Amino acid sequence: MGRRKRPSFAPELSGPDPRLLELSSDTMRAMVDQAMARIVSHHETLPTQPLHATAGGKKLARALREPLPERGVPYDRLLRLIFGRVIPTSLNTASPGYLAYIPGGGLFHSAVADLIADATNRYAGVWLAAPALAEIEAIVVRWFADLLGLPATAGGVLTTGGSLANFSALVTARRERLPPDFLRGVIYVSDQAHHSVRKAALLAGFPPDRVREIPSDERFRLRPDALERAIAEDRAAGLAPFFVVGNAGATPTGAVDDLGAIADVAAREGLWLHVDAAYGGFFALTTRGRAALAGIDRADSVTLDPHKSLFLPFGTGCLVVRDREALRRAHAVHADYLPPMQTVDDLVDPCDLGPELTRDARGLRVWLPLKMHGAAPFRAALDEKIDLARAAADAIRATPGLEIVAEPELSLFAFRARWPGQEGAALDAWNRALMSRVNARQRVFLTGTLLASVGFVIRVCVLSFRTHREHVDACVEDVRAAHAELAAEGSGARSLTRPA
Ligand SMILES: *Cc1c(COP(=O)(O)O)cnc(C)c1O
Repeated sequence: MGRRKRPSFAPELSGPDPRLLELSSDTMRAMVDQAMARIVSHHETLPTQPLHATAGGKKLARALREPLPERGVPYDRLLRLIFGRVIPTSLNTASPGYLAYIPGGGLFHSAVADLIADATNRYAGVWLAAPALAEIEAIVVRWFADLLGLPATAGGVLTTGGSLANFSALVTARRERLPPDFLRGVIYVSDQAHHSVRKAALLAGFPPDRVREIPSDERFRLRPDALERAIAEDRAAGLAPFFVVGNAGATPTGAVDDLGAIADVAAREGLWLHVDAAYGGFFALTTRGRAALAGIDRADSVTLDPHKSLFLPFGTGCLVVRDREALRRAHAVHADYLPPMQTVDDLVDPCDLGPELTRDARGLRVWLPLKMHGAAPFRAALDEKIDLARAAADAIRATPGLEIVAEPELSLFAFRARWPGQEGAALDAWNRALMSRVNARQRVFLTGTLLASVGFVIRVCVLSFRTHREHVDACVEDVRAAHAELAAEGSGARSLTRPA
């Protein structure tokens, strides 16, 4: 398109051209090519990059502060800053050796899908504005509902993560099960539940003392008998039990609750059963995972995190609700300046199913990799993760001085070192030192957690699509070497612990 002449009424005769923001085809291509060259070399070196390199991070973060610049900086200089300093100064969450927290890896396909979605900038908040794009989100949610065994009435929404999915689930249950004056409502979680449930309760307006933490059993599973007792006590106290959360892969230990038993209690007591499957949900693609998650099809709602066990880049969670209309009742609000919602029965307005109106067309980032490959390689990758976690746990168990605290139900387990004569805080310090030594080797990155019944334990979560046998072997080797090192140094362990 040719440049039009500046109109004669232009108030300013000099200064930057407002059309500068409209890039030419050549510039667009060059921008993506240059970024792509950086991305490719970043990916090629991923396995040899350090696992953690946050030293100097505070200084770097502060050094970037500046007032809004009036003039631009050349793109290649900015790329150099981003790839040279900003990204390397970090935990390497995309590395195959990253076995900390809950990894995922970040599929490149989704990055390309985002580029397409953002570069075409279609409106996917209401179906009328981009029917097929809105439908793509509904389709992936349908796939997930089918995977979980939920009925045809089920529906849901893609969120930015599991936290918002847990929040919308709680708000939906509150709307369905409690009166408008809901402060007597009580929420039940296990002592292994993710803290985002407490946050959801806080945001939804429940006082902190309306969240009951139910003790877990020796396998870190919510105890249905303790749940029933707590419900009875709360009813006796005039409260209104309404919401219970089952874990399908708890973040600290990977525990999978007996979802069938919790569903029985929920059915008897009239509670809404929410299953937090942010970590474990997509293991339903595998035979072993499906067996472990038995009962999940009885949930009223399920949280999934495609940015965990579906390997997507950060920013995609999902809430699936057994009765999509319940989700709509809790979230739909109309305004006269919007097009009429839901005039066609089988098409969905995503804005009616969640808190957001305008949002990225996020269905595409889930749909593209699944359409390109089908489910098979995802299933194979998840099966591989189960095998790897079991192999690593076996190797750790076979190492004198080390013990498994939480067996791998899916692909996460927890262990610790035992040291003669050490217990309590001293033993915790020993284990923290062990973990620091492992991480210092920069081949794998592990995190730990404090379990009330045990003390400090080290977690191994195998979940990146990039993690294979050699990485898990490196993990075991480094744990054994660090353990031997500490053992040789003996009681000096305590002084070796540096604060995180
Ligand atoms: C990660 C996680 C969450 C929170 O999800 P985000 O995507 O981080 O918001 C909730 N529950 C469980 C079990 C998780 O592992």
